[in-house]
Amino acid sequence: MGTAIESIEPGAESPRILVIDDEADVGEIIVSAAQEMNLDCTVTTNAADFLKALVPEVTLIMMDLAMPETDGIELLRVLGKKQCKAGIVLMSGFDRRVLETAEQLGRSLGLSAVGQLQKPFRLPELEDILRTHASSKTSEPSAQHLPIPILEDDLRRAVEREEFVLFYQPQVEISTNRVIGLEGLVRWEHPERGLVFPDSFIGRLELLELIDQLGWIVIKRGLSEIGQFTRKDGTPLTVSINTSAQSLHDLEFPDKVLALVKERAVPPRSLTLEITESSLIRELSNALDILSRLRMKGMQLSIDDFGTGYAMMQQLRYVPATELKIDKTFVQEMQSKVDARVVVQKTIEIAHDLGLRVLAEGVETQEQLEFLRINHCDLVQGYFISRPLPVPKLHEWLATSPYAA
Ligand code: C2E
Ligand code: CA
Ligand code: CA
Repeated sequence: MGTAIESIEPGAESPRILVIDDEADVGEIIVSAAQEMNLDCTVTTNAADFLKALVPEVTLIMMDLAMPETDGIELLRVLGKKQCKAGIVLMSGFDRRVLETAEQLGRSLGLSAVGQLQKPFRLPELEDILRTHASSKTSEPSAQHLPIPILEDDLRRAVEREEFVLFYQPQVEISTNRVIGLEGLVRWEHPERGLVFPDSFIGRLELLELIDQLGWIVIKRGLSEIGQFTRKDGTPLTVSINTSAQSLHDLEFPDKVLALVKERAVPPRSLTLEITESSLIRELSNALDILSRLRMKGMQLSIDDFGTGYAMMQQLRYVPATELKIDKTFVQEMQSKVDARVVVQKTIEIAHDLGLRVLAEGVETQEQLEFLRINHCDLVQGYFISRPLPVPKLHEWLATSPYAA
């Protein structure tokens, strides 16, 4: 049967909450929390029931993103067409970035995305959301912050036609003050809008399941271009490529990468694959196999956006990484905030104990560089050295910068 599985109706005055989640037990948890707070809450498990229950009195929608038939993204579109005025809370087991992108998509459709609930959530988080949003009246989406929507067709075409380029940001060894590698950062050359930055489209590509295809475009591009970049003394540079968590599902991934590396005559150890700490934690069980094989084939492995310190290090000690990248938020706060400083110092210490080299990203000042030097960090990357550069500018930089001597 497909009708609302549970509904309570206290006073007619109270705001109405409408939940859609294919997992009935999630709906039950929400209903009982709402009941405790004396809120009117209806739970549905499929799109048809949801749309039936969507009366104008609904002030808060809680929506699961990943559902088997009609997913949350499609539903957001439907709500956009209906010019729905309710506040929307998105729920998902994906990482924050996916939630954030979906939220941004919602806003671009004129919807009022008011919050996120990352699964598995704890009861206090849920209660917090209900307390904050269920009681407020219907809210108008704010017009100023509406980003220009990126259309799905545009994205599909972009991947098909490979409308992407890599900008490269130098990575400098602190002990020698020399560039040793480059991180490739993708940009979309949009035919009308010009350069579009990855935070505006990576999450969308993940949702559209096109991220794998982008991954291959980027790896091929990076491997084909790296050969032309050297220091003035002719020393070749390494290239670091950002890898999506999705690649960690493909058991053939290591072999496919190795084939490309060989085809382009790049030594495997000149390629570093960066994988974010959050996707590593999420994928740990099936990732270890793939990651070990990447290492066995000679490629390097960097843990990107690292910052949760000691606790995570315990979990990650079996990941066969060669490098750890300290997230830029910690670098930017390490001189003003004690906890950020401690994370940076401890991370460097433990990483070295585990035989990993440490790269700090987002270094913007001489002071930050000195602090990192004193604390035995190995490598730095950031605006202080150079912004990410398009290929012609990188050639100029390599010809003139003291770091490239
Ligand atoms: P990330 O891997 O953490 O990359 C570092 C980001 O910080 C880049 O933003 C870079 O431009 C920026 N950045 C570098 N130095 C500084 C600095 O000194 N200060 C500040 N404030 N920022 C700095 P970008 O290029 O916009 O990339 C954003 C994110 O998009 C990347 O974060 C990465 O997670 C993702 N990304 C980029 N390229 C790819 C790709 O080819 N594939 C995948 N899957 N993700 C990518
Ligand atoms: Ca990175
Ligand atoms: Ca990073």
